[in-house]
Amino acid sequence: MDIFKPMDISDDSKKSEIESVEKVRCLIIGSGPAGYTAAIYAARANLKPVLYTGLQMGGQLTTTTEVENYPGYPEGVTGPVMMDDFRNQAERFGTDVRFGIATDADFSSLPHKVTIDGNKLIEADTVIISTGATAKYLGIEAEQKYAGMGVSACATCDGFFYKGKDVAVVGGGDTAAEEATYLAGLCRKVYMIVRRDVLRASKAMQNRVMNTPNIEILWQHQAVDLFGENGVEGATLVKKKGTPEEETVKIKIDGFFLAIGHSPNSGVFSKFIDTDDVGYLKTIPGTSRTNVTGVFAAGDVQDPHYRQAVTAAGSGCMAAIDAERYLAETGR
Ligand SMILES: Cc1cc2nc3c(=O)[nH]c(=O)nc-3n(C[C@H](O)[C@H](O)[C@H](O)COP(=O)(O)OP(=O)(O)OC[C@H]3O[C@@H](n4cnc5c(N)ncnc54)[C@H](O)[C@@H]3O)c2cc1C
Repeated sequence: MDIFKPMDISDDSKKSEIESVEKVRCLIIGSGPAGYTAAIYAARANLKPVLYTGLQMGGQLTTTTEVENYPGYPEGVTGPVMMDDFRNQAERFGTDVRFGIATDADFSSLPHKVTIDGNKLIEADTVIISTGATAKYLGIEAEQKYAGMGVSACATCDGFFYKGKDVAVVGGGDTAAEEATYLAGLCRKVYMIVRRDVLRASKAMQNRVMNTPNIEILWQHQAVDLFGENGVEGATLVKKKGTPEEETVKIKIDGFFLAIGHSPNSGVFSKFIDTDDVGYLKTIPGTSRTNVTGVFAAGDVQDPHYRQAVTAAGSGCMAAIDAERYLAETGR
């Protein structure tokens, strides 16, 4: 099942699949730092939140080992342990954490309606969407093989582990240019692997890249494989693929950073909630409010800029406070 594809429950055949209806004050969708933090605040405000975890209980951080930049863990912590701590804290105040996937939403009238697993209808006074975003990968086998062993989709998260080493950044847009200049401040050498013969990044970002002496752009190169014994030691690239001048090139690197974009997990909601061109949910600046009253968004699903655990948690807190105030103001 494509969990992000909206289903139309106005269609009678779909309606008949609904087996139960439940009314809740605060529904939280997603179990990453944003969702659990919203749950902690909502539970302590007596909103009796129900949280659906989605397929990835604990969110993106459960796929990483060391997290060193989340405040409160001076010695660092593994992603799964940290997310267990989040969950325990949310449950301690009474959050009802359930496994389930939001498969459809109808925000056209009150109460808001969200379908879980295609057969359970939740009617909610407030909804907090915290479904995260998924980094895009090239789709080569080696990315999986070396996950957490040299492959990363987040320079801010993992760049520190490559201090003084050589790394490559894949991509030619603004994110890739930003990640490359960030890494250039930490690493000995940064290769930018760019498929085309131009950068898509803004002129300003291009200038920053061009003026950074330890960044080397590999124009018209595509990464096809990675190699190394106990982690990434190098990448195999194809230069000018599909042309008579095609050649295979190997570079020695310790880290391979993907910077080819993210997909926000917003498809289920985008029928009703305004999004940007990429699909990030739009919130009213300085708040977690969306264009639909009573529906709030937090974390990476509404954040194309920072995408960090601490910013996700912060916006989860905002969403719970906004939900609580909305309920108080509307007397619901
Ligand atoms: C490998 C890796 C390492 C990272 N390292 C760091 C780091 O060191 N420090 C740092 O600050 N950040 C790090 N990040 C980034 C950080 O993980 C994210 O910024 C953060 O997890 C975003 O939190 P979130 O709550 O918005 O979403 P996520 O953590 O993405 O959680 C989204 C949740 O929504 C659920 N969901 C999705 N769709 C549905 C649906 N339809 N119905 C129900 N639930 C749904 C998922 O199951 C998941 O539980 C890393 C990311 C990755 C991938």
